[in-house]
This record gives sequence, C-alpha cells and structure tokens, in this order.
Amino acid sequence: MDFTYSAQDEEFRREFRSWLEANLPAHERKSRIDLMQDETEEGYGRRLDWHRKMHAAGWVGISWPKQYGGRGVSLTQALIYYEELAATRAPRLVNTLGIMMVGPTLMQFGTEEQKKRYVPKILSAEEIWCQGYSEPNAGSDVASLQTRAVEEGDYFVVNGQKVWTSDAHRADLCILLVRTDPHVPKHQGLSYLVVDMHSPGVTVRPLVQISGAKGFNEVFFQDVKVPRQNLVGEKNQGWKVAVGTLMFERVGIGERANMTGLVEELIALAQAVERNGASAWEDSSVRQTIARFACEAEALKYTVYRQITRQIKGLPPGPEGSVLKLTASELNLRISQFALELLGPLGQLDYRAPYAIDGGIWSYRAMAARALTIAGGTSEIQRNIIGERVLGLPKG
Ligand SMILES: Cc1cc2nc3c(=O)[nH]c(=O)nc-3n(C[C@H](O)[C@H](O)[C@H](O)COP(=O)(O)OP(=O)(O)OC[C@H]3O[C@@H](n4cnc5c(N)ncnc54)[C@H](O)[C@@H]3O)c2cc1C
Repeated sequence: MDFTYSAQDEEFRREFRSWLEANLPAHERKSRIDLMQDETEEGYGRRLDWHRKMHAAGWVGISWPKQYGGRGVSLTQALIYYEELAATRAPRLVNTLGIMMVGPTLMQFGTEEQKKRYVPKILSAEEIWCQGYSEPNAGSDVASLQTRAVEEGDYFVVNGQKVWTSDAHRADLCILLVRTDPHVPKHQGLSYLVVDMHSPGVTVRPLVQISGAKGFNEVFFQDVKVPRQNLVGEKNQGWKVAVGTLMFERVGIGERANMTGLVEELIALAQAVERNGASAWEDSSVRQTIARFACEAEALKYTVYRQITRQIKGLPPGPEGSVLKLTASELNLRISQFALELLGPLGQLDYRAPYAIDGGIWSYRAMAARALTIAGGTSEIQRNIIGERVLGLPKG
C-alpha cells in the first residue's frame, strides 16, 4: 500500500480539520471518549446535538453512497476522517450500532425499499438501532438461539428473549436474529428481521455492568407482529446476513479503537504520578512497557490500513477483521490495567470520585475494557476464527 496521500486527499483533510476548528466547542475537545462509557441523559443529549451538527454538515456516513444520505468519499478519505476525529477527541457520535453494522448490512443484503426506508435515518440518528443476537443460552454459539418467529399471513409472530442488547433502552429498531425453522440444522433455520422496538409485546429491562454503566439490556418478545417486508435476505437464510453484520462489527470495533491516543494519555499519566519518590516516567521499566504499547498501537494502525485496502479493492470484510478486533481489544485492556498499576492504591477510586486522578477514568476503563474483549465475539472465538479461517489450522 502507498502511504502517501494525494493532493485531493490532503485538501479533504484541510476541509474537515477547519470545519472541526470552527464547529467543535473548546470545552468538548480532548474530552475523554471511550466505547461503552457510562453517561447521563444530559451527556447523551450533548452527543446527540453534536451528532446532528455533524450530520447537517454532511460529516456522518461519509463513505456511504450519496443516494442513501452519505457523502460518497473514498475509503482513504474515510481514514483521514477518522484520524482527524481521533486527533481532536471529539465526542462520539450516537447510533454506533446503526452506523457501524446495520447500515453496511442493509446496503449489502437489503432490498432497495429497505435501503431507502432505513439507511438515511441511521445517519441522521432519527432512528436508533440495537442488535438482538445473544440469548441466555446462545452467546458464542449464537446459531443455537431459541427465539422463534412463525409466519402468519403478512407477518412473522415473534416470541423469545434476547440479552446483552446494547442501546435497546434507546432504540427504535432492532436487527433480530430468529429461528424460523426448528427442524433443520441450527445454522439453516434462522432469519434476520428488522423489528420496531415500539411494537406491542416488546419489553426492555436495563442491566447494570460492573462499571456502573447501563448500556445493555434484556429484551423480551411476546407475540410481536413483524411485517413480512421487514425480512432481510431470504427466510431461513439469515445466518449469511448475520455473519455479514458480525464482520462489520469486528472491523468497526477495531477501526474505531484509537490506541495511539490512549498511549499518549498513558504517557501523560506516567509523567504525573510518582513511583519510588520520583515521576513514574523516570523509571525505565515504565518507559519500556509504554514503548511496547506504542509499537503495538502503531502496528494496529497499519492493520486498520490493511483492512481499508481490502475495502478499497471492493472486498467485504474477511476473517482478518478478527485480527483487528482481537488485537485492539486486548491492547486496550492491557493499557488500562497498566494504568492501574501506575496509580497504585489510587487506582481503586471510582469513576468521578473526589480526589481520583484523571477523574477515575482509568479504573472505569479497566473494567469497561474487559467488555470489549467479549462484545462482538470473545477473544477465544476470535482466536478460533484466526486459527481455522486465516491460518488454516484444523478445528480444535
Ligand atoms: C458490552 C457488551 C455489549 C454487548 N452487546 C450486545 C448486543 O448489542 N447484542 C447482542 O446480541 N449481544 C451483545 N453482547 C453479547 C456478546 O455478543 C456475548 O457476550 C458474547 O458473544 C459471548 O457470549 P456469552 O456471554 O454467552 O458467553 P459464552 O458463549 O457462554 O462464553 C463463555 C466463555 O466460554 C468461552 N467459549 C465459548 N465457546 C468457546 C469455544 N468454541 N472455544 C473457546 N472458548 C469458548 C468464551 O470465550 C467465554 O470465555 C454484548 C456483550 C458485551 C460484553
């Protein structure tokens, strides 16, 4: 891959950078952004305002086709866009699942009608999405799920339960994986539906995570009627669509993880805290550990470029996305845990606790970082995929 940007790409960078300069309020800059961060209604409202501002200026879904509300820029420019966003530490956009997974899935597998109906409102965040795959007895082995959908006339009638459904408490729509044929091998009897979360019979119960965040939920479906036109792909062929979504999810988690920024924050922390009567940064073993993280973060950046290269060549995300997801989430975890080591006893102070260094963000991160090694398929599952489908090793 050629790492130099064309004049046109650099012009795009200048345009976005100056828009951010003019529109991102100073107090929102360098705000600590973490996937899965706990937030108040007020915090969410602020992010929504920022999202709308970005959307109105055409800065959401920038690589998506223009006909569906995107900006239609090249993938290289999309990469520049993420670099610039990360550098300013702008607030995260809302509707993460919609943008990262649902939009790309619908554009690949949806009917023209579905694309027109749903995709533009994903970008504008007029409709918030969630993903209903996992169930109490179907996580890593999601194809063993039990939620049933029975076709009755123009509708599917859905009964069952999902769990760990992120953002369901705010969602208007859900991509729901259901069993439509219980008499065939498990992967062959699944279908992929779009479900209106405001339908009668849908109940959402928030779950509290170890970090205190209430990001995900249990969702119950009791005789929920879903119009047949909300079927994505063919009936009983939902596994193919579901795997497509998972690929977008893994690549998305990896691509959005700004580990270089996190390493910079770790350096600042090491310079601020003491170890053996001097700045921790004076300790060569601390610097060596951080240097190792910096190298890994840099390597990760190039893995993202590799993934982007695939997309430029028109290839869908492949199992290599698992490499990205695995390395990003594990590095994130190790960095956060090392920060706690640097903080010593102070690392026990809660997020936002009085006297906590950096507002207690590191203890919060260390707990939230574990979640990213589970969400979107656990690290063990990613290792299985890499072993079997990338390296061609025999099944374990
Ligand atoms: C923060 C967060 C957000 C989430 N959001 C969503 C969401 O929005 N929608 C959704 O549907 N789901 C969501 N999930 C659920 C997530 O997809 C599952 O937690 C994940 O797939 C693991 O499933 P499980 O929790 O049932 O664990 P299990 O599958 O029961 O796994 C338990 C342990 O066994 C290991 N294991 C299982 N099978 C194998 C194997 N074959 N080889 C080696 N080890 C194995 C796992 O790695 C894990 O360590 C979310 C999870 C988290 C943490």
